[in-house]
Amino acid sequence: MNSRATPYLCPYCGDGDLRPHEVEGEDGEITSPHGAWECRSCLRAFTVKMLGMIARPNLGGER
Ligand SMILES: [Zn+2]
Repeated sequence: MNSRATPYLCPYCGDGDLRPHEVEGEDGEITSPHGAWECRSCLRAFTVKMLGMIARPNLGGER
């Protein structure tokens, strides 16, 4: 299973122009931190991190 989540919309402005956030390291190498994205619309960089699995909600049967 791929643990890298791909956001489709910016959580801040709702725009869809998201790119992997690239950072230049000390040795000049360009890397993309795990789960880091940047929005080209509002110019925010953020990360998407899965915290773990949750229990399936019990819907209480038929409604
Ligand atoms: Zn945005």
